[in-house]
Amino acid sequence: MGSSCGWAGKVLRVDLSSGEIEAESLDREWAKKYVGGSCFGARILFNEVPPEVSALSPDNVIILSQGPLSGTLSPASSRCEMTAKSPMSGIISRSNVGGNFGPQMKWAGYDLIIIKGQADKPVYLWIEDDNVELRDASHLWGQDVWATDRLLRESNRAVGTDIATLVIGPGGENLSLAACVMNGLARALAAGSPGAVWGSKRLKAIMLRGNKGVNIARPAEFLQLCQELRKSLETDPMYDSVREWGTIGWVGSALSRSPSGKHQTGGVRMEGIEEKGFEPLVEKHLACHGCPLHCSHFLNVKEGKYKGTRGEGLEGFVQVFGLNWKTNSAPFLTQYNNLCNQLGLSNSSVGPAITWAMELYKRGIISKEDTGGIEVTEGNEEAILELTRQMAYREGFGDVLADYPAGAAQKVGRGSEMFAAHNKGFHTYGFSPGIATSLHYTLGHNVATRGFDHLTGGTSLFAPDVRAEWGITRELLAKIGQERYGDATLFTGDPWAKEPRWARVVYDQENMMMMADITGICKFATKFNLIVSGMDLSIFAQIVTAATGEDFTADDLAKTAERELLIERAYNNREGKRRLDDYPFFLWWQLKYGKPNPMFNHEQLPLKKENYDAVLDEYYRLRGCDLKTAIPTRARLEELGLEDVADSLEEYASLETGEAATRS
Ligand code: SF4
Repeated sequence: MGSSCGWAGKVLRVDLSSGEIEAESLDREWAKKYVGGSCFGARILFNEVPPEVSALSPDNVIILSQGPLSGTLSPASSRCEMTAKSPMSGIISRSNVGGNFGPQMKWAGYDLIIIKGQADKPVYLWIEDDNVELRDASHLWGQDVWATDRLLRESNRAVGTDIATLVIGPGGENLSLAACVMNGLARALAAGSPGAVWGSKRLKAIMLRGNKGVNIARPAEFLQLCQELRKSLETDPMYDSVREWGTIGWVGSALSRSPSGKHQTGGVRMEGIEEKGFEPLVEKHLACHGCPLHCSHFLNVKEGKYKGTRGEGLEGFVQVFGLNWKTNSAPFLTQYNNLCNQLGLSNSSVGPAITWAMELYKRGIISKEDTGGIEVTEGNEEAILELTRQMAYREGFGDVLADYPAGAAQKVGRGSEMFAAHNKGFHTYGFSPGIATSLHYTLGHNVATRGFDHLTGGTSLFAPDVRAEWGITRELLAKIGQERYGDATLFTGDPWAKEPRWARVVYDQENMMMMADITGICKFATKFNLIVSGMDLSIFAQIVTAATGEDFTADDLAKTAERELLIERAYNNREGKRRLDDYPFFLWWQLKYGKPNPMFNHEQLPLKKENYDAVLDEYYRLRGCDLKTAIPTRARLEELGLEDVADSLEEYASLETGEAATRS
């Protein structure tokens, strides 16, 4: 076994204030405990960014991290993680991108790149293996993402074309809370304003090329496991539809057609933005590094108002915004998606802000006087595109929307906060009560450590009647319920019933999905999406063992996922988050203010508080958290070797008194 098998073996630290760059060895015992990716990120954030550090200060850190499978021959091993304190929510921000940056970073020899400080002028970081430099980026500041990527490639042409970039656009430079970090032209580290953290540090880009490859401890065994896994993925009922449509099919279109999605979409159906609407635009399929699923598309609008709009995309969330905005045009959504990518904005954060503005405008809470003359009405495509642009440059009403949700609602006032739905300060995906298609999926969204999140405990496929056309039939759900939980009716009955066992389902999904982020694998290759044959903890254990030469069992990996989740939860607890913050928006409002949010008809909502409480209690029991405060217990933290986390929680708790101890 080589000393760096699976892991690349090095940590790169960059201080933008002093210009110091230092590489150190990755401690292998530490790596075995935390395994990689998002767990590395959470551990370092907890140690290095305490509550007294604000998200846009030089002392916040950008942590880019890889897992032991990143950049290997394992299917879908493309992911790169970024962790930081979020300027949007003030808690942990954890985002993840496919493409090619993660593999290239690994091939350059780094499991972690940790960046802190603030440069005195714009810089970009150049990395080719051991050659690391901070370079002047003054000429790039102000350029959009696509132009920056092109200019960087032109000026480094001698090195070759196989180079990966992470870039911010005007959104990040202007500290818009919708700002993301783009990998290439169309993939994003998006959740929780990572682009604004980069902008605050005057870090415009990282350009990186790795030439070293990855050492594998047991290559023959590893290769065989990867080949078997690839074959097995092909047998999944979702496999063909994911390859054909990606989330355009099984998210946006499925929600458009399904009455179960009405709380996310307003119950409207728009065929123009379902997958058939995109069919004439698709030129080819695209994939991230090493991915047999190739769920992405290159779109080209060949006629009409948006003729000439070309680019990679888009994901199902954009269709959900299309439903909210009543914009029944696939070419328009392609243009919206491209504009966000160019400006370095997360389409998933711009969308909710504009949806909020549309709702306020409809109700007369804001008018043309507030918006600088823009009519924010349903279907007004020009208004949506202009507000998107303004959000990146913080111009006009865009300066308000750039602080969505809490900051924007504070600026507008007039009761607008009742519509600014969020969980732990991170927005939901539109004006919504904060619920999803079932109680268990709602729980997964709202206990998630980065705030409202479909990608930590996601159980979207377990909801009956939403994706039957994609092969997720009631018969299949009955079979899965029987095989995994000994009850064929678990997923086929009322999705909003009082069923504490759903806490276990969310717990299991969280562990499996976090292991994807920890090892460097796309979640679409797990049982989150390929519900029958996708990767789960036992498959991860075999492949990570073959890659690293260290013996991991499924139980070991479950413990690692638990470690990450409890570190993240403790991080948020230290920032003041409590049980109240794990409720969906409409219940959070009611509990916080002692009266219902009048914007929701509670009688008509399918979720009842007592049913949610039963599942939430059970979730805390499984995770080892106090039922009243939602804080991990010392006993559970010690079981996981996290005594220092327990000590830190106690130290901060002792600084809190009275009301502050239970604030949210
Ligand atoms: S499934 Fe899609 S997003 Fe995931 S790695 Fe493959 S191509 Fe990329």
